[in-house]
Order: sequence, then C-alpha cells, then structure tokens
Amino acid sequence: MVDINTGILGLVGYPLGHSLSPLLHNATIEKEKLNYIYLPFPVEEKKFAAAMEGFRAINVRGLNITIPYKEAVIPFLDKVDPLAARIGAVNTIVNEEGVFTGYNTDIMGIVRMIREDGNFSIRGKKVMLLGAGGAARAAGIGVLEEGAASLSVVNRSLARAEKLAEEWKGYYPAAEIEALPLENRIFRENLKEVELIIDSTSVGMAPHADVAPLIPAEFLHEKMLVVDLVYNPLETCLMQAARAGGAKSLNGLGMLIYQGIEAFRLWTGREIEPVSWWKLTQNMLK
Ligand code: NAP
Repeated sequence: MVDINTGILGLVGYPLGHSLSPLLHNATIEKEKLNYIYLPFPVEEKKFAAAMEGFRAINVRGLNITIPYKEAVIPFLDKVDPLAARIGAVNTIVNEEGVFTGYNTDIMGIVRMIREDGNFSIRGKKVMLLGAGGAARAAGIGVLEEGAASLSVVNRSLARAEKLAEEWKGYYPAAEIEALPLENRIFRENLKEVELIIDSTSVGMAPHADVAPLIPAEFLHEKMLVVDLVYNPLETCLMQAARAGGAKSLNGLGMLIYQGIEAFRLWTGREIEPVSWWKLTQNMLK
C-alpha cells in the first residue's frame, strides 16, 4: 500500500526494454511488507539532467542506473564509491538525506556468482576475460580485487583490451595482466593453465544465439569454470562448448540476481535470500 512515507526506488535507462528489475524488487517489497515502490523511469538523453534534478526534488531513496547512463550519471552524484570510480560506471545510487552516492554492484554480483554458484575461489588463479566493454570492466576489477594471479584480456578491438590492461596494471601490480587480440586465436593455446574464463561479450545473446562460440570445446577442459555473462538463452553457445569439453559453466543470471540483491540491501538494509529471486527469474525467462 503506497502512502506519504513510501520510499521511491527505480530504474533509469533508455530504452528500458524487458528489464526484470521492477518485477523482482516489487515482489520482494510486497513479500517482506516493506514501504517502498520500485518504478521504471525511461528517460531520453536530452532529458537526463532534468530527470536527475527531479529525482533529488522528489527525494527518491535509490535508483538503479542502466544503459546508456552508467558513466554519464557520475557528474550528477555527490560521492562515488572507490571501486565504482575505478570502473568509471555506477549502476546503483543511494540517497542519504539528500546526498547521492554511486555504487557499482555488478562487481559483487559477478564475484558472488563465481564463488557461490561456481563454488570457485579466484585467489591465485589464472583468469581469461573475453571482451573489453562495460561488463568486462566490472568483471576484471572483480577478479583482480579477489586476488587473481593473472588476467588475460582478449578482445576483438585490441586497443580497448590494451587500455584496460594498462589501467589495471597500475591498480594491481602483483597480478600478471596482458591484452590479446581475439582475431589471431593464439590466445587459445594459453588456455591449458587457465582455470576461469569469463565471456563478457554479447556473442551468443538472443536473438543471435545460434552462432559459433568464441572458444570451441577442444580448448575447454574439466579443470575450468566457464562463465558467460549472457543469460538469454540460459545455455549459451559457449556453455554448450564447455559441456562438450568437460568444463563446468554458468550463465549470467547469478550476476543479475546478486547485483540486484546488493542494491536492495544498500537501499533498505534487508538481505534477500537469493532463492526467491532465482525462482522468479527462471519463471520469467521460460
Ligand atoms: P559493450 O560495452 O557493448 O561490450 C560488448 C563487448 O562484446 C565488446 O568487448 C565487443 O568487442 C564484444 N563483441 C561484440 N560483438 C562481438 C563479436 N561478434 N565478436 C567478438 N566480440 C564481440 O556491452 P556490455 O555492457 O559489456 O555487455 C556485454 C554482455 O554482457 C551483454 O551480452 C550483456 O547481456 C552481458 N551483461 C550481463 C549482465 C548480467 O547481469 N548478467 C550485466 C551486464 C552485461 P569490441 O570492443 O571489439 O566491439
């Protein structure tokens, strides 16, 4: 029931497409009998500054920020969490008495998924990251914060991977960090010792799910965990290759769930049991 004290939460992006967030957050608010409401706010680019001013004026409690505003929102904030600043992207805002602070819960989303659903400890491991876009930034910082021994960043546009590798070498001098081009496929020879692969590219995402994976099954082995950040389809082409090669695999649903749960905790102080969100998302994606 909405009343004068209802805390306003929401998702800001454009276009918002088929986001699951309003359904997940509102189902939890209802179940836990909390006095919040989570609304979708599709905001066109030319109106973004006015919208941010409006969110302050109506004193929203918190926001999720999605494409295309994760970077553009930073100048509108009063404070930015140090890891979000390191990534240069914010996906969650908390309003504490008029002070807007930006966080990036995607980092913890990826790390928690690998730890809990993959039953995998990143510390000391050799990791390969495919892609160098927004999701790659969160994944790379996440694994380096967790103490990965080495990180190979492989991308179609080598310059983007090189930029990330250079930046991360400065922050994590103890880790071995390199950038490799996707196109000459030599990186596949390095996979024998790699124990964690994270594919942060959009390759294999619906409606283009029926494509060849960036790494074929013959290079994937049973000592590996293969994580595809795509979750639609639930089993991607890379996950099929992982299965054929004997490797364990995960899709990106856990990341989506854990980043949302962490945002909810930042706004409300409540820890949500992931199981209820797993059930909801799986029903929605059927
Ligand atoms: P982005 O910033 O646009 O980056 C896309 C990346 O994919 C780039 O590295 C790009 O390489 C690469 N790529 C695209 N098409 C390719 C192709 N045909 N061959 C090889 N590489 C290709 O996008 P993003 O925001 O990082 O998102 C990437 C993926 O992560 C999306 O599929 C998204 O669904 C997923 N994601 C999942 C979650 C979650 O909660 N699970 C959250 C965020 C994103 P170039 O640099 O060469 O263009």
